Amino acid sequence: MWALHDELGYAFGDHSLSDSFPVLVLAGTSEAMDLAGHLTARPHFRALVSFAGRTASPRLPDLPYRTGGFGGAEALAEFLRQEKFEAVIDATHPFASAMTANAVRACGIAHVPLLRLTRAPWKRQSGDQWIKVDDLSAAAEALGPKRKTVFLAIGRQGVSRFAGLPHRFVVRSVDPVEDSALPDDTTWITVRGPFTLEADEALMRSEAIDVVVSKNSGGDATYSKIAAARHLKLPVIMIRRPGPNVDGEVHEADAAIDWLEALRARGHGASS
Ligand code: NAP
Repeated sequence: MWALHDELGYAFGDHSLSDSFPVLVLAGTSEAMDLAGHLTARPHFRALVSFAGRTASPRLPDLPYRTGGFGGAEALAEFLRQEKFEAVIDATHPFASAMTANAVRACGIAHVPLLRLTRAPWKRQSGDQWIKVDDLSAAAEALGPKRKTVFLAIGRQGVSRFAGLPHRFVVRSVDPVEDSALPDDTTWITVRGPFTLEADEALMRSEAIDVVVSKNSGGDATYSKIAAARHLKLPVIMIRRPGPNVDGEVHEADAAIDWLEALRARGHGASS
């Protein structure tokens, strides 16, 4: 059984109490919650779900969880060793590249198998006017010098990269953006998805949006802005995912469970 350890919600395992298979899930996405649901129904896995702590009121799993950074790759490797994890599923957001790099390094150090679970990226459809760019800076540059009204639908992080540009921004995020991070001429909307096509079309019309900036996050929850832009014939500056740096990657929670079942059946035991 995992036991809650301290006021941060850290959870540590007493492995002598159980022979179930300990799994660390790096979370912060709906895919992680989906996986957590599957793991809840499989008591032969003993999962600990880890959140970065960025969102004020995250949806919580029906499983033990912890919140906050580990303190880098080496510290995560030590955590994996101490807690005798047999597997790690990195179900963080496709753009959480620092955490993913740390997970690769830590699992290498601690010899713990790692799988990446991400939502599949969106693909351009007929009628889409995508301008593909590599990162936030390139997205800011792609807006050009002529003043536009921009739907900046990239979440909270990275908004400050758009400060100092001659445009008006409509920013949408789950939690409020710090005022100091916002470009000067900004309307911000705090709301949690999923969103609908109708609502996003209405928003883009009422705000007289000229262009949408989006990360290629994939998934259904935030796709409506992409479909709405297509309907309204608006360009989308689409930020590509950071390059893959994990050997094993799946897009469905079922596939992650299959991987875990196979690992357990093989009796992986770097730490046992
Ligand atoms: P990041 O830049 O890759 O990570 C920065 C640091 O945050 C990591 O080095 C790690 O700190 C800590 N961290 C990140 N995810 C963690 C987790 N699940 N458990 C414990 N610590 C974690 O990540 P980010 O882009 O800031 O994203 C933070 C969280 O928000 C992630 O959980 C991600 O899934 C979620 N999210 C991100 C985006 C996005 O667009 N980037 C969108 C939606 C949700 P230490 O080095 O101290 O261990």
